[in-house]
Amino acid sequence: MKPHLIILGAPGSGKGTQAARLVEKGFTHISTGDLLRREIAKGSELGQKVSGIMTRGDLVDDNTVMALLKANCDVDKVSYIFDGFPRNIAQAEMLQAELLSESKTLAVYFKIDLGILINRVVNRRTCGNCGEIYNLTTKPPRVAEVCDKCGAHGALKQRKDDTEEVISNRLKIFADSVDPMLAFYKSKSALVEIDASMPENVVFSALEKVIC
Ligand code: AMP
Repeated sequence: MKPHLIILGAPGSGKGTQAARLVEKGFTHISTGDLLRREIAKGSELGQKVSGIMTRGDLVDDNTVMALLKANCDVDKVSYIFDGFPRNIAQAEMLQAELLSESKTLAVYFKIDLGILINRVVNRRTCGNCGEIYNLTTKPPRVAEVCDKCGAHGALKQRKDDTEEVISNRLKIFADSVDPMLAFYKSKSALVEIDASMPENVVFSALEKVIC
């Protein structure tokens, strides 16, 4: 079995886009942001609890997200790409102790200058039908408002937390919490870095090299 990959990167660093491509290599993509948004869409009790927190760009509490993650994955069956978890050192330690203690794991840091990310994120759009990710300036759909992948019309949505004000908060939270996580995986000799400022295909080739 391939190792589980833990993608560490700021909002807008390309984690979701690259993770979707790695699925073709036999990994299963699991995004805690997606799991939480699904709860909001369902209108569940959990969804109602986290909706305001996510709209502000703050973090949901560690135990809640860990429980949701555990309920949605089986680490002995498939190799996962963990996208959006861990977000801080407490989550990294929990993930290790409660899910991955017996598993081979590699953390991949998507390194990028945070200054360029606000612009990237405010231009991000996601197909509400199939989840394909676009950027209105660097990767627009071939026909405006139509998803290249599934053909859905008018389905390209901006996430509520992809506004300039909220993304600033999300980037600050990331900047304040990333170093201890990098040190954690480095101490286990389980950390590689990728230059995430490169074009999508170049980043993907670099990723392919580190996972082989
Ligand atoms: P993402 O899709 O990864 O950008 O996550 C969107 C939002 O979901 C974040 O801004 C948080 O509010 C929440 N979230 C996702 N993953 C986590 C996590 N591991 N811990 C706490 N909150 C999370």
